[in-house]
Amino acid sequence: MSDFRMTGGCQCGAVRYALLTQPDNPHICHCRMCQKAFGSFFAPLTGVPLSKFEVTRGALALFRSSDLVERGFCRDCGTPLSFRFIDSDRISVSIGSLDEPEKVEPTHQFGNEARLSWFAKLPNLPGNETTTETDAPKRAADIAASNHQHPDHDTAVWPPKGA
Ligand SMILES: [Zn+2]
Ligand SMILES: [Zn+2]
Repeated sequence: MSDFRMTGGCQCGAVRYALLTQPDNPHICHCRMCQKAFGSFFAPLTGVPLSKFEVTRGALALFRSSDLVERGFCRDCGTPLSFRFIDSDRISVSIGSLDEPEKVEPTHQFGNEARLSWFAKLPNLPGNETTTETDAPKRAADIAASNHQHPDHDTAVWPPKGA
């Protein structure tokens, strides 16, 4: 038995999960259904066998985007969390919901029929050299001081007592 554990969860902290083995097939999917489900240009996903996926707090809300696919999200804050072919014994999670997304670098892209024509230009957009802290320090400080986002690690109690 390995004690591998990679954790993640939604923005509000109502749903937390753990992967009990190194996730594989890290990829982005540009398909129109993933764009819509994530409200984004693509879905970043990585998978594990179902038996190695554990919801450790709350429960996934589920939407069947087709008869084949079930997408999990947080009912309270809307964070997209999972993707699964219903007849499969695997489940994928959204890489951005992992506590350490930096550790899971995509190696493939799918759904290229819907890839937005300007996708490749994004890294060259002006503004690359700035951060919220340099652009709007007061706002960045106000956000930090009133942050309701769950931290990037498991917590015994959430939200914090008295909050
Ligand atoms: Zn949530
Ligand atoms: Zn897709």
